[in-house]
Amino acid sequence: MAMVVTAPCAGCKYTDCVVVCPCECFYGDEQQLYIDPDDCIDCGACVPECPVEAIFLDSDVPAKWTSFVQLNADRVAVLKPLGAHVTEKVQR
Ligand code: SF4
Ligand code: SF4
Repeated sequence: MAMVVTAPCAGCKYTDCVVVCPCECFYGDEQQLYIDPDDCIDCGACVPECPVEAIFLDSDVPAKWTSFVQLNADRVAVLKPLGAHVTEKVQR
């Protein structure tokens, strides 16, 4: 089980979510952030931090966004070797 970042994250670079994560699970590209399903421990700390409610437990992702479960895993696999780790809040 892991948390999954879904469609409402698109365009958000405020990244309030990343600073509370004890496992540094977040990776990002120009579109949105993604959670590493191998590192996430389901602590839930990131969920209330997201102002647009983009983060769900993988088993609770709304039906219209279930493709994001695989997308998070796929994008992290690409972004991790590229060093696209996001561990600090982005200011803008
Ligand atoms: S706070 Fe929410 S919308 Fe913003 S980067 Fe984090 S998951 Fe995405
Ligand atoms: S549930 Fe916890 S471990 Fe998983 S991404 Fe959120 S803050 Fe990090």
